[in-house]
Amino acid sequence: NPEKTTFKRVMLKISGEALMGDQGFGLHPPTVERIAREVQTVQAMGVEVCMVIGGGNIFRGLQGSAQGMERTTADYMGMLATVMNALAMQGALESLGIHSRVISAIPMDQVCEPYIRRRAVRHLEKKRVCIFAAGTGNPYFTTDTAATLRANEMRCEAIFKGTKVDGVYDKDPAKHDDAVRYDDITYDEVLQKHLGVMDASAIALARDNDLPIIVFSLDEPGGFRGILAGEGTYTRVH
Ligand code: UDP
Repeated sequence: NPEKTTFKRVMLKISGEALMGDQGFGLHPPTVERIAREVQTVQAMGVEVCMVIGGGNIFRGLQGSAQGMERTTADYMGMLATVMNALAMQGALESLGIHSRVISAIPMDQVCEPYIRRRAVRHLEKKRVCIFAAGTGNPYFTTDTAATLRANEMRCEAIFKGTKVDGVYDKDPAKHDDAVRYDDITYDEVLQKHLGVMDASAIALARDNDLPIIVFSLDEPGGFRGILAGEGTYTRVH
């Protein structure tokens, strides 16, 4: 029964690129709306939803620093990009009638809420979707680490990492026909084999706190709800 799930509170992590559609850059509103609908179906199951959205569709710190920018400046620009994506997602959720809050690691009061843990927990209890923006608020981190940090702080039961493919493969399935998907894999195997699930600091932070990472495809309509109900294919990193 896809309406039933054992999960009570989850973190959905998506990259900024998941919002750009086929455009190659920026935001594609119909794609943002499609993902908002995925969140809606999960929220309708009674699950409390946290989200972290990357910023790579707009700006990546590493790219900026490779072009000669000061790394920290470039990283702050990347964090600001995640706020833009969070606002776009909030708008899409709102148009579906879903209450949400954008909660930024870097205070910007006119735009969204600052991060205050107890306040965020309260929003979740009231079934508001919490979109955590500006990453961890620190340069040299990624939004994967931010998602893991916030998932721990919010006591989420798992991180759901929505990607283009339905799990973790031993090699890139877009390039290799014989790539094999793992059903289950340990954090240490992911690190040892350098599998590009999340960056190493995010994997280690999940491992040290026993936070499972569930890698699934966001391209399947209804996929997120299905995975929460235990259906479909995915990889569980634990
Ligand atoms: N970033 C940062 N600290 C954080 C999170 C993000 O400095 O805690 C910056 C970093 O420059 C990164 C950019 O924000 O490149 C966008 O985030 P990320 O690359 O994780 O986005 P994604 O690849 O998920 O779209």
